[in-house]
Amino acid sequence: MTRVRFGSTIVPIERLDVSAYTVPTDFPESDGTLTWNETTIVIVEAQAAGVRGLGYTYADVATATLVKAMLAEVVTGRDAMAVPGCWLAMVEAIRNLGRPGIASMAIAAVDAALWDVKARLLDLPLVTLLGAARESVPVYGSGGFTSSAPEHLQHQLGAWVARGIPRVKMKIGRHPAEDPSRVRAAREAIGPDTELFVDANGAYTRKQALAMAERFAGYGVTWFEEPVPSDDLEGLRLMRDRAPAGMEIAAGEYGPPHARGWCGRRVASRCITLRRDHRLFAGWRALRSAFPPTLGALLPLAACSSLLCVAHCSAPGVLP
Ligand SMILES: [Mg+2]
Repeated sequence: MTRVRFGSTIVPIERLDVSAYTVPTDFPESDGTLTWNETTIVIVEAQAAGVRGLGYTYADVATATLVKAMLAEVVTGRDAMAVPGCWLAMVEAIRNLGRPGIASMAIAAVDAALWDVKARLLDLPLVTLLGAARESVPVYGSGGFTSSAPEHLQHQLGAWVARGIPRVKMKIGRHPAEDPSRVRAAREAIGPDTELFVDANGAYTRKQALAMAERFAGYGVTWFEEPVPSDDLEGLRLMRDRAPAGMEIAAGEYGPPHARGWCGRRVASRCITLRRDHRLFAGWRALRSAFPPTLGALLPLAACSSLLCVAHCSAPGVLP
């Protein structure tokens, strides 16, 4: 039974509440090009007709400040049934700030919260509200930071496989000389039947990445993510054409905010074969047609996408 009757009256968005939580990591973490020891999640709660919806992004606390200082005023009073209109109003409002980065992450968190509100107002699962294109999506476990000792890497990836996850991803690129042995250790831990993905976060040079691809193929790696920086189109094209058979080249996590256009151009120019994003970095609406942001409340988005989707799981606790 729905709580809201469609009609000529709007359902005003009553308020936005935003909070940010910075959580220390268990140990210093790193990938091929970045190190960190804490993670901040920005949570947006939107309310309309007494119903509250949740949206979030992983971003600096400045993102929460932008939501509170600007976006809350932009969407408050607008129709909770007209989420695209809210999104457009937010995009227009941040014009002078620049679209990439903090502004897009802030919009994404609010946008997700508003869709959640609408789904709850209608008593519908989000996947039903948006419309499903498939029954399920593949998932993979992601971790294996370059700061992890080999035994920890093996334990983490092996534990995911033990829980039934058939694909795992590890980070590489911090210490290239050690990467082949780390990949081998991972393969030993996950057995021969688990798909193994690697992510260099753009750490390699072109020739280095090519050489590594050959080495990784020997360990059954089927997905090589950001072997070179995502803005190196020629390098991505080189990798796509020259990588061993059976190894997909992925990129797009750190592309510009208009993810659909960015990814589309790269696919069109045959620079990559796979694209992904899991952090709501690039704006939730854009990613609706690209990749699901994370495994959780927004997973139904994956089922709605008409394109190839791979859901990302960064912690066993978020598995259903
Ligand atoms: Mg990545």
